[in-house]
Amino acid sequence: MKKIALVTGGTKGIGSAISRTLKNAGYSVAANYKNDVVAAKQFFDETGIPIFSWDVSNYNSCAEGIADVCRALGGNVDVLINNAGISRDSMLHKMDPENWDKVITVNLNSVFNMCRLVVSEMRQKLFGRIINISSINGLKGQIGQTNYAAAKAGIIGFTKSLALESASKGITVNAIAPGYVSTDMTDVIRNDIREKIISNIPIGRFGKIEEIADAVLFLVGERASFITGATLNVNGGQYL
Ligand code: NAP
Repeated sequence: MKKIALVTGGTKGIGSAISRTLKNAGYSVAANYKNDVVAAKQFFDETGIPIFSWDVSNYNSCAEGIADVCRALGGNVDVLINNAGISRDSMLHKMDPENWDKVITVNLNSVFNMCRLVVSEMRQKLFGRIINISSINGLKGQIGQTNYAAAKAGIIGFTKSLALESASKGITVNAIAPGYVSTDMTDVIRNDIREKIISNIPIGRFGKIEEIADAVLFLVGERASFITGATLNVNGGQYL
């Protein structure tokens, strides 16, 4: 029986590579998204991976979405990848309270919502894999990203705590902290700033979405059974 993997924000960017990689490795994958129906339909046409739209920052929507996924795929979630995320950058002294709230709820509250709704079944089954996508900027901070860095740092504390709670139940909980990766989220970075960022990456380029997906594949696999509560940096060698 195939393991069921649910990837939030799984139709675009890093999430789409995670969805594809897990499918190719033999998982039964469901990909969540929110707004971009055109991208989601194109992703479905290309991959055949079923797509489910809901807002991960809303607890009740997550409950309904997960129930739909379980019905459609015929079982409970074995592997949860909390990947959905947004940025709304500005200096703190110019930051709208709405952009603080939005980034915290979509990037951090979503991780609570999703984990809270799948972890009981995992505890009963004595198996589960949870990967939370953090960020290099949650570890080192970034100008214009007090909201994003706070959410991504919060994910790391959450991951360590849930890992401790879950270790005796066959569930591992880990975070991945990507450095800069080429996606829609980073396409908006101005060219001069992009050049400056690249000059600080020892490997000398942005990461590829597949390079994050391969790290996820390792951490959800049998060979990573003794790794939990960890944060894996996948960032081209940036010193933190
Ligand atoms: P992306 O290309 O902008 O894709 C984000 C995905 O999240 C989309 O599928 C989007 O769906 C979904 N999403 C956003 N808000 C959502 C919500 N409320 N409910 C459900 N889905 C939602 O982003 P990315 O660059 O691949 O980033 C993926 C993750 O990696 C994020 O957590 C990001 O913070 C993290 N990360 C990225 C980088 C980077 O350099 N790219 C670096 C470090 C960490 P719709 O578009 O359909 O709404």
